[in-house]
Amino acid sequence: MKRILISALLLLSVTSFLYAESSKIKVLTTTEDLKSIAEYIGGDKVTVDSLARGFQDPHHLEAKPSFMMKAKTANLFVRIGLELEIGYEGLIIDGSRNQKVRPGQPGHLDASEGISPLELPIAKIDRSMGDVHPMGNPHYWLDPENAKIIARNIANRLSELSPQNAGYFSKNLDNFNQKINNKMVEWKERLAPFEEDKIAVYHRSWPYFADRFGLVVACELEPKPGIPPSPGHLKDVIDIMKRDNVKIILMEVFYDEKPAHFVAGQTGAKVIVVPNSVGGTKDAKDYFGLMDTIVDKLVEGLKR
Ligand SMILES: [Zn+2]
Repeated sequence: MKRILISALLLLSVTSFLYAESSKIKVLTTTEDLKSIAEYIGGDKVTVDSLARGFQDPHHLEAKPSFMMKAKTANLFVRIGLELEIGYEGLIIDGSRNQKVRPGQPGHLDASEGISPLELPIAKIDRSMGDVHPMGNPHYWLDPENAKIIARNIANRLSELSPQNAGYFSKNLDNFNQKINNKMVEWKERLAPFEEDKIAVYHRSWPYFADRFGLVVACELEPKPGIPPSPGHLKDVIDIMKRDNVKIILMEVFYDEKPAHFVAGQTGAKVIVVPNSVGGTKDAKDYFGLMDTIVDKLVEGLKR
């Protein structure tokens, strides 16, 4: 009798666990930054998975069958947008055969809605310009004020998909915004001594961050976005860095460090490798950990 009771209880808890899991909204994001923000907003009403890992280059992801399988069962697909995922998103969604997450459907969200894009090209774009994004620079998540816009977009969409939880999502959004506001004071204070300091960067990932925190991007190691550094271009970079007294080269974890170290050797600058996404390093556990890590490393590099 006792044994029957135990197995009945066990069955009950397993069923209720499975029911709880299946009643959650399955969110699939392209990057771990979006995943982190979706987890803050969705709380225990969602499960979130990300296609790219934070230590991967989000411009170039392989449209693997396993990604299509993840998209197949997703209720909500969230992308950065501004054509960051143009090389793989369509293939993954097509391959998933999930009509609910196609662009234009309620199950598809472009997190860039409401963002003011930087670097909108004024001239017509052609291939000679490199990997230029016609809709503007897609690295907007590195400005915490934009993280609030992403969070609002996610909260609105989750509320549409699950109206009974709208109040819960809205409360989580308020908490997220409050936390960003508090941390902004700290991040700004820590970077304030370096206002107007010039930095060199590897890729054009940093204009939103630099604008927000008063840094100036003097030059990029890539001659054009997505094109690896060439000796001729690096010579120009070295000249600019010497002329402008640029002390750091900021770069992501997934680029080749050799060109940066070469330039550093010629200029006396320091190479600072930082995650540009959540999960890029082990400290960048969530959106706040990501920003903390970037600010820590920058302060350390700039105060020399
Ligand atoms: Zn880019």
